[in-house]
Order: sequence, then C-alpha cells, then structure tokens
Amino acid sequence: MPLPPGRVHHVAVVVRSIDASLRLWRDLLGLELETVMEIPTDRVRIAFLGVGESKIELVEPTDETTGVARFLASKGEGFHHVCLEVDSLSDELTRLGIEGVELIDSAPRRGAEGPVAFLHPRSCGGVLVELIEAPGGPSWRALGMTPPKP
Ligand code: ZN
Repeated sequence: MPLPPGRVHHVAVVVRSIDASLRLWRDLLGLELETVMEIPTDRVRIAFLGVGESKIELVEPTDETTGVARFLASKGEGFHHVCLEVDSLSDELTRLGIEGVELIDSAPRRGAEGPVAFLHPRSCGGVLVELIEAPGGPSWRALGMTPPKP
C-alpha cells in the first residue's frame, strides 16, 4: 500500500511571460511571490507563489525547442502539471513502475525545489503528475541536495 502523499506541493501553469502573469497571481489574487529563477538545463524560467501549504508554479519557456514551449504553442497558457509530495521518491517510483504506471523519469532527478520525477499523462488520466520528495528524504542525500531551512 502506498503512503498517502503529504500534500499538493504545487500546481504548475505554463505562461508566456512570468512578469505579465504576476499581475494576476500576485497582484490580483494576492499570492506571495517566493522566488523567480532561471533553470538553464530545462530552458525555462519559473516562479513559485505560496498559497497555504502549497504553491503555484509559473513556467515560462526561454526557447522554442522544449516540450513546454511546444505545449504553449499548441495549447496556449494554462494548467500544466500537479506535484504531490512523497516521503521516499525512489520507493514510490519502484512501486508505481511495478504497478505499470509509465514513468517519464525512472529515477529521482534534481528539481528546483528538491528531488523530482514525472509520471506520464497516459498513465494518469491525461494529467502530467510530478512527485517531489519531502525534505530530508533519502534522494536529497543521494543527489547531493541540501533541504531548505524551514
Ligand atoms: Zn513542477
């Protein structure tokens, strides 16, 4: 049996421009902007805005060749993925793989906020699902990542 996820870590939205989108998410809806960062390896800029124990992630492609850029070109701005926090990402990936869930990442990799892995929408009712390991879990050490100070 799986352990229940700890929380919805974030919901991600693809946008043309983070700067323009802050008018809605920060100024009109009142979410607190926590961070904006460039992820050169994924060729995106992202922003995290806090809401309760969860966040909204804004994802802005920085070139035209990535999956996120193609998503934006074909579908426009909108919902992209939901991220659930789990205690042990490796254990979850092993279990889900055995259950026949199609994994985009078969092992934890470095994400902006911790060790992450994506599950294919084909196995998730059309929804792109990201899993993130809670701070202090085994993948943090394995990937040489330092958990944020609470
Ligand atoms: Zn995400």
